[in-house]
Amino acid sequence: FAIAHSESRRAAAGPRTTAPCPVTAATARAHRPCASSKAATTTAAMAEYEDKALEASVFAKLSKLPPLVQPAECDELKALLAKAADGKAFIVQGGDCAERFMDCEAERLEAQLKVLVQMGAIVGQATGTPPVVIARIAGQYGKPRSKPTETVDGFGEIMSFKGDNINGYEPAERKWDPKRLLDGYFHSAATLNYLRSLRMSADLSSFKDIDVGFTASSAAHAQNVQIAAGVKKSGKTAEQAVFFTAHEAMQLDLEEALTRPVGEAHYNLSAHLVWIGDRTRQLLGGHVEYFRGLANPIGVKVGPSMKDDELADLVTVLNPHKEAGKLVIITRYGSGKIDEFLPKHIAAVKATGIPVVWQCDGVHGNTITANGGLKTRAFDDVMAECTKALAIHRAAGSVLAGIHLEVTGQQTVTECTGGCALVSEDDLKTNYETWCDPRLNAKQALEAALTMARELGP
Ligand code: PEP
Ligand code: MN
Repeated sequence: FAIAHSESRRAAAGPRTTAPCPVTAATARAHRPCASSKAATTTAAMAEYEDKALEASVFAKLSKLPPLVQPAECDELKALLAKAADGKAFIVQGGDCAERFMDCEAERLEAQLKVLVQMGAIVGQATGTPPVVIARIAGQYGKPRSKPTETVDGFGEIMSFKGDNINGYEPAERKWDPKRLLDGYFHSAATLNYLRSLRMSADLSSFKDIDVGFTASSAAHAQNVQIAAGVKKSGKTAEQAVFFTAHEAMQLDLEEALTRPVGEAHYNLSAHLVWIGDRTRQLLGGHVEYFRGLANPIGVKVGPSMKDDELADLVTVLNPHKEAGKLVIITRYGSGKIDEFLPKHIAAVKATGIPVVWQCDGVHGNTITANGGLKTRAFDDVMAECTKALAIHRAAGSVLAGIHLEVTGQQTVTECTGGCALVSEDDLKTNYETWCDPRLNAKQALEAALTMARELGP
């Protein structure tokens, strides 16, 4: 394990030890030396539990429950990501910011899969290759928060909502409860079971009926109609409905309980891909330490606070064997900042010789507070960041392999402004459902895919 940059940073943090790191026993079992426990104290964002006996019983159970995905599926995704990094496929990753247990119902799940599969079909139509569809689903229940507490009228200063895996949204339910992790596992299992069963369903043919009537007022409408017609004519529906699952692996004790040895390797078998958030990607932190022991394809969010040499170190630690399709760099700067940061970050990674898969998260750098206090995003800002990412990669001789967006399959949600769906700031309160970040509604999501398709197309 010889890495010049990161070795010096690790050395600065104190002596290394090969003893199992408290948060990365799986990593240690793979005989990869753990960072010093001093370094691991930087582990950010995780919930902790008071009732140690209850906590122990929850983790004992979680570590015995069956895997939700197969290692071979994770390997298959890795191979597809390698193709995308080569410009031979395009990734559409999307879903809720925070999935909710209460939304685990057939109609909503079907709508969510449908919008993602349709987005994939739209970009696939432009590139002429099958899309790689990755859903933020079946486990996207844990959120890092910028502040641990928040002020709620009538309740004063209470713990922030950290996702259904950790606490409840209702102010009275904000205490961290380890039993929720089991609820999370069973909701993930039910979700994944239903989504997989849909691939066998006759109704899947309706996934090909993409209605672009709502873009009639747009100058791009004729082109959109053509793309939609192309999707309808194209090959087998079941093949188009191939999807993978992903979530932010924020709560490491949970993720580790769902990590299993497979031969010499360790896979997190709760999802095909897991990613590290922009708040938890510290080079010496527990998240990076855990992730570097995984065989899954992994992602890491990169925002404006990332330094060029820090990114070079990070990709070296996370993809030491230079595997193609292994590491997705999910950039999220904001449409006004991408020009300043992405070119330097591309150059820094290129200099390491480490292959990465570049994905643009067009949403997280573009969150603003609207008049009235609701968090929102403007459709045009989201698309500006995605189309700029494509142009910047092309100019740098690099490849934008995909996009990453927060979207819902629900048609009538009003959380993001703009697009042909014409959601105004005043409309936001009409149907604002999210408990965390604002999502593009189903029409805005399709319009986002159409916009990318027009840019990607021949
Ligand atoms: C998210 O993807 O919901 C998220 C919290 O993103 P980031 O880590 O980029 O802020
Ligand atoms: Mn989010």
